Amino acid sequence: MDQFVKEKLKKIFGFSQFRGNQEPIVDNILKGKNTFVIMPTGAGKSLCYQLPAVIQDGTAIVISPLIALMKNQVDQLNAFGINAHFLNSTLNKSETNKVKKEVLSGKTKLLYVAPESLTKEENILFLKDAKLSFVAIDEAHCISEWGHDFRPEYRKIKSIIAQVGESLPIIALTATATPKVQQDIQRNLHMEEADLYKSSFNRTNLYYEVRPKIKNETKKQIIKYIKSHKGKSGIIYCLSRKKVEEIADLLKVNGIKAAPYHAGLDQSVRIKNQDDFLNEEVDVIVATIAFGMGIDKPDVRYVIHYDVPKSLEGYYQETGRAGRDGLEGHCLMFYRYEDIIKLEKFNKDKPVTERENAKVLLQEMAAYAESSICRRKFLLHYFGELLEDDCGFCDNCKKPKEKFDGTDYLMIALETVKNTNNRFNMDHLINVIRGESNDYIKSYKHDQLNVFGKGKEDDERLWKTVIRQSMIGGFLEKDIENYGVIKLTAKGEKYQNEPYAVTFCKDHDFESMLENETPE
Ligand code: ADP
Ligand code: ZN
Repeated sequence: MDQFVKEKLKKIFGFSQFRGNQEPIVDNILKGKNTFVIMPTGAGKSLCYQLPAVIQDGTAIVISPLIALMKNQVDQLNAFGINAHFLNSTLNKSETNKVKKEVLSGKTKLLYVAPESLTKEENILFLKDAKLSFVAIDEAHCISEWGHDFRPEYRKIKSIIAQVGESLPIIALTATATPKVQQDIQRNLHMEEADLYKSSFNRTNLYYEVRPKIKNETKKQIIKYIKSHKGKSGIIYCLSRKKVEEIADLLKVNGIKAAPYHAGLDQSVRIKNQDDFLNEEVDVIVATIAFGMGIDKPDVRYVIHYDVPKSLEGYYQETGRAGRDGLEGHCLMFYRYEDIIKLEKFNKDKPVTERENAKVLLQEMAAYAESSICRRKFLLHYFGELLEDDCGFCDNCKKPKEKFDGTDYLMIALETVKNTNNRFNMDHLINVIRGESNDYIKSYKHDQLNVFGKGKEDDERLWKTVIRQSMIGGFLEKDIENYGVIKLTAKGEKYQNEPYAVTFCKDHDFESMLENETPE
């Protein structure tokens, strides 16, 4: 069996070896089991379902929200000699009928379907008639409202699969999932028992750095940075099309080979600029997040965020485009809190839950930027991974801030969580610690706790980072069941009985760095 699968890997895709978790994943799918794959971008997720699809009888359904990439993927598979098709709104009636006929004839190994096509009654009927092998759900984090890319259509997938084929195995794949999102995906797809294959998110060759974003200064810094990396490829991400154009022009005026990329440009211009970047006619692409999906340039040496991304998921994905070849990549972000507020305002017309969730994502982003603990530790913790030691390869590790004795702080934080019975969120805990009473606190009689007001000497900001660092240190954790609630871990409980010295560090104070800035 193993040998057979390996031969297929070589014969069809031309690869002599599996990468990372691919082999056990393929095996699991071939056994017809539900499978959950969490793998960083570029690690080779597609092969995990493509290979079993080719080997098995029938057609595998691949659900993907990226209509723009579907044709590409199908073309690639066809080039490997694999019979694959797609079904989405870009096809006309006769093209659609042709695809359906091909699938019903049993020849098609993979059928890519957009979620909105999947929910159409006529397509459900058609799929009922087809012989299917399994359903792969790409970008599975789109199912979750707690993630950064929620798509309501994704929530209907499970009930459609149930109609089309009750016992079809489901393969969920994603490159970003916090523990909360992970749980949400599994619940929604009724696949709590699925075998989980989670790869590490640690990109050891990426150097993370955050600098304050200062008017006039930042642009100069960027030009200087690029000039000192002459001939190297880099990406600069900006939030708006206008900013993209502005920065691209600024770079060009300064003799840098740069090109813009955003969804407002003509497709021909976009393709040309992208090709110029890939062929190294230009060194720097200045882009909105529209750039990068499905692009695989291995030797991108730096990714600069001129504007702060909307979530750490986005930040991780975008910085992940640096150093694909395994050589060093520099991830440099310019940050000011004002940008977070600006982003928050964009969400004001969204439905309440969406707006609230977007806000939480933004606050996490701000906390990352302002934190002075090891960036990698922070980032990996966000994705549910504990890094024991500081990485030594980020700005905070290279230029550590002065630390303070955190033992008493940690004890107070743990005591507060424990004495309020592991049931409250950060804001509430801090109110208790700082002795800030309100009706809510009174109704729980938390103003009568021993710990009430014990930390009134320090401000809210300090307590926030203490609680965060307690979480990253594994003493406290987020309760996955109850959003926002913070609870004690076994390690935290043990610490209360046998405390030892810990050190914390204060966050960066970006605001004070901006005080002297000259207006634009
Ligand atoms: P993801 O979907 O996880 O972002 P892809 O599936 O697009 O990643 O794969 C990234 C790249 O790795 C592709 O160019 C793919 O051909 C290549 N790849 C995947 N598996 C292997 C393998 N076993 N050996 C060599 N290259 C591989
Ligand atoms: Zn570090």
